[in-house]
Amino acid sequence: QAKAQGSNSFCFFTQTMNNQARARLEIESELRHAQENRELELHFQPIVDARSGQIVAAEGLLRWNNPTLGRVSPDTFVPLAEDIGLILPIGDWVLRTACHTAMTWQQSGRTPVRVCVNASVRQFRNGNIVQTIASVLEESGLPAHCLEVEITEGLLLDDAPEIQEILNKLHRMGVRISIDDFGTGYSSLCYLKKFPFDVLKIDQSFVRDVINDPDDAALAAAIIHMAHQLKLEVVGEGVETTAQLHYLQDNGLDMVQGYLFSKPVTAEGFKRLLDQKKSHGSLSGVVKKTDS
Ligand code: C2E
Ligand code: MG
Ligand code: MG
Ligand code: MG
Repeated sequence: QAKAQGSNSFCFFTQTMNNQARARLEIESELRHAQENRELELHFQPIVDARSGQIVAAEGLLRWNNPTLGRVSPDTFVPLAEDIGLILPIGDWVLRTACHTAMTWQQSGRTPVRVCVNASVRQFRNGNIVQTIASVLEESGLPAHCLEVEITEGLLLDDAPEIQEILNKLHRMGVRISIDDFGTGYSSLCYLKKFPFDVLKIDQSFVRDVINDPDDAALAAAIIHMAHQLKLEVVGEGVETTAQLHYLQDNGLDMVQGYLFSKPVTAEGFKRLLDQKKSHGSLSGVVKKTDS
């Protein structure tokens, strides 16, 4: 009967919710000890000049490997860390690790590359991100222009003057600022003139279909042209095929990031990529190698 069926599906539903809540609690309690147990790692993905093929930057990306949960995606644990306030100590650790690691690459004669760090809204609202960055730059010795802070549009939503003040301070210090995942969320074009951005990163959802979907192709091209008019450099995220690369190159894209060139790798692995680049030169060389 309908009634029995209804109550069955209700039971099933609460059971599912229970399981989800329990899973979330378990992840949370493991996450609270992840830092002291040294379960967090920062991996790095190269960002490559679209014309020369040289690596110009590295985006730091958090990795969490827990003995009972295994590998947990940052798309899962970063929002949890934000909810329970853990993103503040974790975010400080990411900044410190990124700057020190970039400094070790610069030593022993490697061409300097910038390091890009994702920042959460919480670090801007409750944290002391300006002081943290100032002291991390000082203790690591990394020049300010070698650090880039990536923020998403969510941060700019509530239009708080404090956020603008923090971004202006970082900009005056010489730190670069980029807008990440551009085109998703609550894009408003007035953000682009209001805040001191240096770089715009086109979200991978546009890049994915530039070859098959004329609308995405048009949007990607328009975003690149608009950003250039505003004197922003443009990164294409999630570039996986040479066809995507060529379309974006033809439309004037400045930098590429994606599996076509490399997945995120460990700090050691990144050092090897930098040394490889020295001898192999251009992006096209690497592209041919991957395709064959
Ligand atoms: P994001 O900042 O937009 O980072 C780019 C994501 O795209 C990374 O996922 C990267 O591995 C992935 N990616 C790069 N190239 C390709 C490609 O060619 N194909 C595909 N399918 N994916 C590609 P990841 O590492 O899983 O990170 C997911 C998100 O988690 C990041 O998105 C960022 O929002 C957040 N996140 C990661 N590390 C941190 C961190 O240290 N702090 C904060 N606040 N958030 C972080
Ligand atoms: Mg990012
Ligand atoms: Mg992104
Ligand atoms: Mg993202």
